[in-house]
Amino acid sequence: MKITQVKAVYPHYRHVAPSWRTHLWQIVVRVEADGGLCGWGFGGGGEAAVAVVNGHMRELLLGQEVDGVEGIARIWDALYRASAPYGRRGIGVMGLSGVDLALWDLLGKAENKSVCELLGGARREKVRAYATGMDVEWYRDLGFSAHKGSHRYQGREDDGEKVVAWAQRARRVLGPEALLMNDGYMSWDADFSRAMARELQPYGVHWFEDVLLPDQVEEQAALRPAIKPVLLAGGEHEFTHFGFAELARAGALDIWQPDLAWCGGMTAALRIVAQAARSGVQVVPHRGGEVWGLHLIAAGLCEDLAELVLGGRTGGRDQVWLGEPEPLEGCLGLPDGPGFGVRFNEDML
Ligand SMILES: [Mg+2]
Repeated sequence: MKITQVKAVYPHYRHVAPSWRTHLWQIVVRVEADGGLCGWGFGGGGEAAVAVVNGHMRELLLGQEVDGVEGIARIWDALYRASAPYGRRGIGVMGLSGVDLALWDLLGKAENKSVCELLGGARREKVRAYATGMDVEWYRDLGFSAHKGSHRYQGREDDGEKVVAWAQRARRVLGPEALLMNDGYMSWDADFSRAMARELQPYGVHWFEDVLLPDQVEEQAALRPAIKPVLLAGGEHEFTHFGFAELARAGALDIWQPDLAWCGGMTAALRIVAQAARSGVQVVPHRGGEVWGLHLIAAGLCEDLAELVLGGRTGGRDQVWLGEPEPLEGCLGLPDGPGFGVRFNEDML
């Protein structure tokens, strides 16, 4: 089938979530083919990525044939090459991610298969989800047994106490078997990370995430053995298999967390998980509880753990996609239907 139209939009977010990671900057990409089928994808990069997709990428995409997974990979390579002078990382690849996911959705609809089936089929009927946010009592009530809190290091005397207080509470509320993680969102340093590994030892924290800047590759490689048995996770701000290959060469992380809507879409994610397998690294996609990562996890191509950014009980959220799976007893199943199985909520335009 031939691509006849490409359009990226920046949805009208009514509820601006406390963190830009959840909604702000997320763009929606629609790719139409002859025969009238439409594929939808989610990307990043805000209005700047909308301009990249509707300008340069649209021009390159119109008239292209989408003939199977290999065909999508060829299109990915062509768009990456063409956008390399300004792209490679960040906004260019965030736009490309939306295009790529829309092409996978389109292919699934054309073949009447879910994306998971395009990836070889479901190896997991349900995926274990973990709740991100700080409302641990709510996550317990919802049936979660895995949770990630966060702490932005501010250089204050009580920074460490706050992280310890979170760990105490999370362990008490969620029980001895629960999986606990903490996210520093690039604000910790190596000293604070080492101190936290020592002080949190009684609470059995599974990983520290995103503690340093993504550019501090050597520093992360040095930190990794120093915080054991806590694992070092990161990669939501890394892009494409080229970027993750550098992390592999440095031995920077125990767990890679590519975000499918930012790192280059499903095509890049498949190359990243292949690299991870060669390097003996685990992959736990960032926001993997959203359908874009969930199909990859359900297909058994990475760890059985999907992130749901829930925030708090009273928070509320924008419903960009209709038909998204809801967590049940801390697990997620795939939605029914071809492609990714969700519909864009036109009210968000
Ligand atoms: Mg994170």
